Amino acid sequence: MNNITSRIAAIKQRMAAACSRAGRHPDDVRLLLATKTVPADHIKAAFAAGATLIGENKVQELRDKFEALQDVPHEKHFIGHLQTNKIKDVLKYGVSCIQSLDRLSLAEKLDQRLREAHRTMDVLVQVNTSGEASKFGLQPADVPGFIRALAQFPAIRVTGLMTIGLFSADAEKARPCFRLLRDVRDTVGAMSLPQVTMRELSMGMSGDLEVAIEEGATLIRVGTAIFGERVHPDSYYWPERPSQG
Ligand SMILES: *Cc1c(COP(=O)(O)O)cnc(C)c1O
Repeated sequence: MNNITSRIAAIKQRMAAACSRAGRHPDDVRLLLATKTVPADHIKAAFAAGATLIGENKVQELRDKFEALQDVPHEKHFIGHLQTNKIKDVLKYGVSCIQSLDRLSLAEKLDQRLREAHRTMDVLVQVNTSGEASKFGLQPADVPGFIRALAQFPAIRVTGLMTIGLFSADAEKARPCFRLLRDVRDTVGAMSLPQVTMRELSMGMSGDLEVAIEEGATLIRVGTAIFGERVHPDSYYWPERPSQG
């Protein structure tokens, strides 16, 4: 087995063990590969090992890898900060879900583009559950009102929430973040809004996926544990001062 194959197998084992501890069915948690900075041939090796879902943080990388990955069937999500003027590229390069919807101005432009294309799109709303200023996402208390306001955008289908837990060598430190996301999901779910299903909780990464699964994750996003350390620090993707636009 090559490196990527064995690392995916190891992640699947960690997922299965966490599901078993939590009394959950392994099929209820999907693995998304966070492929920022990962070259297309490594991603193809992951597909050959059974991966089917990737997430990119930057439109530039979506574009650069698009052709090389085209001949392998797979699903692609967008998991990074999205600028309004890049929406058309996200649609063009085959993204099926934007996990990082975090403002109405973005929703408005996305809805416009989708309606022009006579289509709809699943989105997750990104929530800042750690209180860190460097993280994108809505404050938890603002999420119900935000999702209610999305009803004015008929092409957008809200299917759940995404968060990045508190970074720490101790994964337990992320647990309150994941619990908070689940609570917000339950609150919004109880509102029974049209076009809103709240079936997805995207939370958990290489270091804290077990805790996330125990707290109800349906999608975990794993990069480093499969592809190794990245050349760019994460601050390259999650700037200190989130810019709007
Ligand atoms: C990079 C990234 C991940 C994966 O992080 P790892 O620690 O490398 O597993 C998950 N979610 C988002 C939004 C990311 O940018």
